[in-house]
Parts: sequence; C-alpha cells; structure tokens
Amino acid sequence: MRFNTLEHRFVQHAPETLDPGVLYVSMEFATAMHLCCCGCSREVVTPFSPTDWKLVFDGESVSLSPSVGNWNFPCRSHYIIRQNRVLEAGSWSDDMVRAEQQRDKAAKAIRYGAVVPPASPKPIATTPSTQTPPQGVLTRIRRWWSGENCDDR
Ligand SMILES: [Zn+2]
Repeated sequence: MRFNTLEHRFVQHAPETLDPGVLYVSMEFATAMHLCCCGCSREVVTPFSPTDWKLVFDGESVSLSPSVGNWNFPCRSHYIIRQNRVLEAGSWSDDMVRAEQQRDKAAKAIRYGAVVPPASPKPIATTPSTQTPPQGVLTRIRRWWSGENCDDR
C-alpha cells in the first residue's frame, strides 16, 4: 500500500486530474473519488447511497464504509478508509467477490424494488411464492414490535 493516509477535500465537482493521496468528496453528487491507494493511480469512485458507501465526517477526518475493493483493477487492492487512514484489508478470493456482488445486487433489489422479469412466463397458479420472508424472522419482528422478550429462543 503506497498511501497510508488520505487527505480529504470537499469539492463540488471532480477535478480534471486527481491528486494521489487525496479523497475528493462531493456532497452535491453524493460521491467520493480517489486514486487507488496501492499506487496504481486508477480512479476509484465510491458513490454514497443506502446500499453503497457511507461517509462519516467527524469534523477532522473522514471514514468510508464498507471497505474499498478494487476487484476490477489488476492490483485487486482492498482497504478500509478510517479517519483518513488507509488500512490494508485482506485480499478476497473470486468466490468472495462473487458473493459480495450477489449481496450488493440483492440489497439494491430490496431497496429500490427492482423488478426482474421472469426468464420464461409461467402460469401464475403454479408459481410458488418466494416473496414471504422466513417465518422465524417474521415472528421475531412481531415479537419485537409487541415488546415481547426475544431472548427466550
Ligand atoms: Zn491499485
């Protein structure tokens, strides 16, 4: 990891050229940009959304969560930006990357109600419903809602 710290800079628009070691944050576009901290200087864009990254600004430093995984770059670097420090995270296997991509897709589908058209049309009567959450989860939510103790499993 070539850069162990990042300096944050609040900007309106992304500059033409990004300086290495700087995390550019645009609140207007709800996005941060920086050059890959491994030193390969590829542009890393981290949009803020309920299903993407979150930025925490404590008045002095910024943190990004979750981690930044540059799976699409040759360097495949993976790190965490916490209070302007770059903490190297373990490299992920292809399976872990796939699992994360699945999770991201599912989270976005839930959040934005993405409608996925069925691959082949089936008669509705014979299509089992997969929309109901598992019974255990519903029970727990109902108990929580009604103020019952959930710890008696
Ligand atoms: Zn890199």
